[in-house]
Amino acid sequence: MESSEDSVSNRVGEFTVATKRRLADDAGGRCSLPDCRVMTQGPGVRVGRAAHICSAAPRGPRGQGGLSTLELASERNGIWCCASHADQIDSGNGALYTAGTLIGYKELAHARALVELKGGLVPKSGWFHGLVLSSRAFPPGSTLRFGKATFLLGRNGTGKTVLAGYLAGFADPRQWQPWLNGLPEEHSVSIRYFDPEPRTYGVTLGHRRIERTRDGQPDMPVAVPVCIRYCSLSHFSAGDAHGLDDLAESLGESSHVVAAVLGTLSSPDISGARVTGSQVEVQLAGSGDVVRWTKMSMLSAGEQSLLRFLIELAVTRRRAQDLPTLLVVDDLPGVFDTRLCGLVLGQLADPDLPFQTLVLAREDPGPEVLDGWTRVELVAAGQQVRLAQEMF
Ligand SMILES: [Zn+2]
Repeated sequence: MESSEDSVSNRVGEFTVATKRRLADDAGGRCSLPDCRVMTQGPGVRVGRAAHICSAAPRGPRGQGGLSTLELASERNGIWCCASHADQIDSGNGALYTAGTLIGYKELAHARALVELKGGLVPKSGWFHGLVLSSRAFPPGSTLRFGKATFLLGRNGTGKTVLAGYLAGFADPRQWQPWLNGLPEEHSVSIRYFDPEPRTYGVTLGHRRIERTRDGQPDMPVAVPVCIRYCSLSHFSAGDAHGLDDLAESLGESSHVVAAVLGTLSSPDISGARVTGSQVEVQLAGSGDVVRWTKMSMLSAGEQSLLRFLIELAVTRRRAQDLPTLLVVDDLPGVFDTRLCGLVLGQLADPDLPFQTLVLAREDPGPEVLDGWTRVELVAAGQQVRLAQEMF
């Protein structure tokens, strides 16, 4: 592998031998894909390869991300893998491995390599890898593989509500309680994540009881050291909820936390927010040179949802400083018009956000809006549901 690559080392954006060596060392000599991790080097041999996060080829799978030729060949743009995974990443399509997902894998591989070396004294690192489902609707082993930003499309009747219920419970186990009496059969759900060691947190719901497991062992009902935030943007109208307290309650946050992040909000549509008395006011962009503050209750439904989304984003950023974090946003395109939907999905697909995102949607906003997203679809097949996702 090495020699054939060196013969084309003058190709645009190609990594130098020194860069490849550093990438391999940072990954502990193993493939960076979390489920692979095969050893790629030994005494005097290196059989792995450096794949490009943003593509070196102009029409490569993930575009060039606006990078210069030098940046394309930089260590920052490389990920160390076994030969077959490097091939998949360089030649596969961008929906399979997005740039954000590859950056996440690279950071995780580095953290795991440090754990092997130092036994735990490593920088914080987390990655949510998969959701494994089993119920009458979801055949055992049904797996949703998380990307950095994952778009889960489930039209009516495909079990999206059930799936949203599982995730709401992972965010707040009290959410599972009302379900229990109405569940005639068992539902098993587990989340696989890395912290950076591999972990699994599972629940079995049904027959009026909840059983939890952690790494296969029975678990006490205590908080798991991850942060899964569930956010539903619909079902809220500021028309009958005017104050900071109502807004905070609808987001499941304390008024103190919401007030603290209001001053940091910024988007092309809302350029500022503040609390006056117990009222929340926002400054809508495009209102001219005169600064005008509008009460939350006077905003349109779309503007209210945008405000709540921006607050959720700001709070989740803070939480992600302490724990591996997944933000679940339910019914996202449903509450926004096409333009706002594109804006919000673009913000969530930013590879630099310090957490992963899962969006649940009933409608498909189209491929141009989903650039940078891992797309999964719930497909009804008779009495069962299949998770349609491109995976190797
Ligand atoms: Zn591999």
